[in-house]
Amino acid sequence: MSECSCPAEDISSRLLAWYRDAGRALPWRNTRDPYCIWLSEIMLQQTTVEAVIPYYERFLANFSSVAALAAAPLDSVLDLWAGLGYYSRARNLHKAARMVVEDFCGEFPADLAELQRLPGIGRSTAGAIRSIAFDLPGPILDGNVRRVLCRLHAVTTDPRASATEKQLWQRAESLTSVSRPHDYAQAIMDLGATLCTPRQPRCPLCPLRAHCQAFAQSLQGDIPVRHKKPPVPKRAQVVLLLEDQRGARLVRKRPYDGMLGGLWEFPAAPVEAGETTTAVISRLLATLGVCSAPEPVGVVKHVYSHFALTCTVFRCRVSLLPQVAKEEDRQWVPPTELAALALHGAHQKVLKLVTEKTEKDKM
Ligand code: SF4
Repeated sequence: MSECSCPAEDISSRLLAWYRDAGRALPWRNTRDPYCIWLSEIMLQQTTVEAVIPYYERFLANFSSVAALAAAPLDSVLDLWAGLGYYSRARNLHKAARMVVEDFCGEFPADLAELQRLPGIGRSTAGAIRSIAFDLPGPILDGNVRRVLCRLHAVTTDPRASATEKQLWQRAESLTSVSRPHDYAQAIMDLGATLCTPRQPRCPLCPLRAHCQAFAQSLQGDIPVRHKKPPVPKRAQVVLLLEDQRGARLVRKRPYDGMLGGLWEFPAAPVEAGETTTAVISRLLATLGVCSAPEPVGVVKHVYSHFALTCTVFRCRVSLLPQVAKEEDRQWVPPTELAALALHGAHQKVLKLVTEKTEKDKM
């Protein structure tokens, strides 16, 4: 990493001057309430501002304070989170709300180490909350800031490598404004989101252009260095949409302690190596005690962070309710209520596919 040729204060003051005129107007910027700032920061992890805004507003309409969120059942939180993805964030949100109420008397801490004790809050999110909610210096190194710093200092090593990451944190700390941490945090995040974008950064408009070593060397397109991702493992499953005479569909709730815990899904079974789809659907029908012939509907694909899933979808109409629906974690849900159910992302796609097929069949 090459040395910075200009004082951190100059970079910081240029950034703040730019932010005064060009900063984004976002719903969570009308408040200093740590609860709202925390909520927005958790929602924004790996999610775009556009996707977050309606969820943020719905959450606040339903849970107006950290105490209200802590008092709510986890299922209500998961229902409101449905569709936003990365559901461990919702579970951690709920756990953290309970910790704030129980361990911090309902007040968010301003201390970085204490903030990081709360589930779902890492070093960068703690820095963002401390800066934005409390106006106290807290370094940030989220994806946007990492990209800006890599370009500013022409970092040509993998930014995720531990030695580079350590240096980037030092850069982040030295740039963080001591006099205006609230504005600085939002300014550097906005610069990364609006000008120093992953592709085609808008350098002619950038307030840091004069100091940017990547710009000086025409390296913006090559920095940050993209590390090669290993191929994503593939998995397959058969999904069965059982429909009763009223059009209600059978769903089951996933165990709380596993992946996508607490979310709903249609009955499904994995396709193991060497198995045919026909064998798996027969096994699934037998498990559910269903004798009717399944009708193929189509295929949906869904990519998780650590594997790619292919769902082969069948539907089956049943006149008698299979006994399995009486088990605690399963229930028949009328079509009008399915949209509001916290189905996980892959099975939301399954529902969309089946709904479209049903509409097409009617035409
Ligand atoms: S000059 Fe370009 S590459 Fe450098 S920080 Fe600004 S937008 Fe990013």
